[in-house]
Amino acid sequence: MKRVFFTFIVLFSALVAFAQVKVVAHRGYWDVEGSAQNSIRALELAAEIGCYGSEFDVHITSDGVLVVNHDGTINGIEIEDNPYSAIKDVKLKNGEFLPTLEQYLECGSKLPNIQLIFEVKGHKLPENEDRCVDASVEMVKSMGLEQRVEWISFSMRVCERVHQLLPEAKVAYLSGNESPLSIKERGLTGIDYHLDVYKNHDEWLDEAHQNEVEVDVWTVDGEEDLTRFANDARIDLITTNKPVLLQKILSEKNQ
Ligand code: MG
Repeated sequence: MKRVFFTFIVLFSALVAFAQVKVVAHRGYWDVEGSAQNSIRALELAAEIGCYGSEFDVHITSDGVLVVNHDGTINGIEIEDNPYSAIKDVKLKNGEFLPTLEQYLECGSKLPNIQLIFEVKGHKLPENEDRCVDASVEMVKSMGLEQRVEWISFSMRVCERVHQLLPEAKVAYLSGNESPLSIKERGLTGIDYHLDVYKNHDEWLDEAHQNEVEVDVWTVDGEEDLTRFANDARIDLITTNKPVLLQKILSEKNQ
């Protein structure tokens, strides 16, 4: 009887560990000395602290170079309207040069334990979005990183194009205006919505799980919200600027 009970406890613990929410560092782990949002250092640090994934944002220049940056402009220069030469000398807050996607993925390829949460940003022109998706997919494939990259975008055009080019890839939609069922019908794999969307659509969390649609929530930084989502078994991933705080909440939960 004791043995049966012990086996049950082991299995139950494994199940709980398996169900543990995954920590995604928003724009890397940047809120620390020597780091900066969307920097290569922030990716390295997210891997060092043991995050499941590190999120980053990608745009394409007019001459087809993919760069990692949140905004569509950098130092007042529109990325999609200008050649790479116009922005290549821009430095981030930690002194790094603005990373190209190639440099960023080269670093990622040496960090095998972290997933690369790849946000293709919306562009002003749909054809630039298409160019950004096509070049991004090509680079990920050429570097053999298909299993390491999970795609996200606010643009449904982007999500569907990634899915078309990489049918096996994880692709999650960010805009918060489609039900999990509709996401599944489009062939996408996840919803990745702002926390307020789930507060207003709690039923989507059940619908997502009934339909095997993965659920990520962004960007959760407050301790109260982090604790609430960390304790909701229907949440698969949490994207946060405070990955260390979330890890602390999760480790206390398991004690
Ligand atoms: Mg982003």
